Amino acid sequence: MRRKLVVANWKMHGNLERNRLLLQEIVAGVQGLHNADFAVCVPHPYLFQAQQMLAATNVAWGAQNVHQAEQGAYTGAVSAWMVADFGCTYAIIGHSERRGQFRETNECAARSMKLAIKAGLVPIYCMGETLDEYEAGVTEAVVASQLDGVLNIVGIKLFSKVVFAYEPVWAIGTGRTASPGQAQAVHEFIRARIAKHDLEVAAGLRILYGGSVKPANAAQLLVMPDIDGGLIGSASLAADEFVAICRVANGAPGSKRRV
Ligand code: PEP
Repeated sequence: MRRKLVVANWKMHGNLERNRLLLQEIVAGVQGLHNADFAVCVPHPYLFQAQQMLAATNVAWGAQNVHQAEQGAYTGAVSAWMVADFGCTYAIIGHSERRGQFRETNECAARSMKLAIKAGLVPIYCMGETLDEYEAGVTEAVVASQLDGVLNIVGIKLFSKVVFAYEPVWAIGTGRTASPGQAQAVHEFIRARIAKHDLEVAAGLRILYGGSVKPANAAQLLVMPDIDGGLIGSASLAADEFVAICRVANGAPGSKRRV
């Protein structure tokens, strides 16, 4: 059974005081919810705060990126081992904002993914098409190339240690979301493509959906058989909204292992 997973992506938002209140409310809100997994990916400077506040709770924490080298002369970069030092469980890799704004490629993402796994983290690898690509009807080709681009470098066996996230770029922060049917179709496509390499890995893989998930649409999305949770941006900055999505995930049935 794949447990649902809900992950907050705070992006470049927050400060010590605001984070404290937000984390307090999230912890109180998800206390006692044990049928799903929850995590908060915070900006690097707040990892210590997350560790201090979340260590004894059912909310894990993670980073929003790690660099593609182990260490060295990379001013401003943060390595997988540095974030692991703060007890992180997860690291988001290949988010469309990293790809678009920081020119990160599939190859960068693959290198970061390998190092994250080596440092004991669970990478959350993001894939998804832009609006132009969506309108051109090439969603599957784009996602396939993002998938194959890392698979060729990381290898199928390590995929058992990765969480995937399908995030159509046109749905991120736009209030426009993929319909449950559209999202399910892409998730199924991803799982089937991985199944061609390894049935067991494909069956166990958690694939999150991200892109304007809100309390109002979470139930319809999370009930889909290949949607194993959500990566939540804007709604994760409001404790009541994030907790409401976590509650939906907690109540949604985990998906059977099927490919
Ligand atoms: C994201 O950035 O990962 C995301 C899904 O953002 P939003 O929920 O705001 O669309």
